Amino acid sequence: MKAGLCISCMIALFSCAEIGVVSDGSSLSYGTANAGKLLDGAALPNRGPGFVVYATWQARGLRYGTDELISLLTEVGDHMRAFGGPPLAIGDLAFRDGGSAAPHHRSHQSGRDADLLLYLVDAAGKPKVSNAMLILEDDGRVVAGNGERLDVAREWALVKYLMVARSAEVQHIFLAEPLIQLVLDHARATGERPAVIERARELMSQPAPNAPHNDHMHIRVYCSEEDAKRGCVDFGAEHRRKPSSYRAGGEQLL
Ligand SMILES: [Zn+2]
Repeated sequence: MKAGLCISCMIALFSCAEIGVVSDGSSLSYGTANAGKLLDGAALPNRGPGFVVYATWQARGLRYGTDELISLLTEVGDHMRAFGGPPLAIGDLAFRDGGSAAPHHRSHQSGRDADLLLYLVDAAGKPKVSNAMLILEDDGRVVAGNGERLDVAREWALVKYLMVARSAEVQHIFLAEPLIQLVLDHARATGERPAVIERARELMSQPAPNAPHNDHMHIRVYCSEEDAKRGCVDFGAEHRRKPSSYRAGGEQLL
């Protein structure tokens, strides 16, 4: 270390030390999703097996997440290939160092949030490519569209897999309440076990009336155990970690 190390460099060093950055090369999600940072995050590629990031979101630069989130997204994309149709379209994650993602988002600050475009079918029920976030009516139809609507079957397959994915534990699946109902109606209609539907219901919510999430799904993962020891904070003073996704009352769900 040089003798003449400047004051601001010293401050920078101390501020890093404060947030526990003794980098072991893995990512750190620091703080909360709404007031946080991302250190040594990983970048999501523009495409991979079963997933794609379209130009609008490539241009924004919000493509960084924790190692666990990036693994989750690639794991989920790969899994969803079995259901055919266009790849899982991924929107914003976080900026390289996290922090404010304004004006696009209040959250997306700590590398544990990701937006997913919705799966759609056309008027004939065929999977349809959409590289834009189209707003859906409460009945699942695209506003001012040509009969395109939410692909409830693939959304349910996605939700089910998010409950059991190995890479990260999903805390929230945000989606407009009427669209949640459509997806759960599909699950019931296809004979899904009530315990599985109940568990999905716990994960799915509409975050706020003014953020309806009727044009995309937003997922958030819990702090990893390692990151929780280093300053990662799951939301809310009364936050309580939900039980492991793939069990309910001791029963293996999926
Ligand atoms: Zn979002």
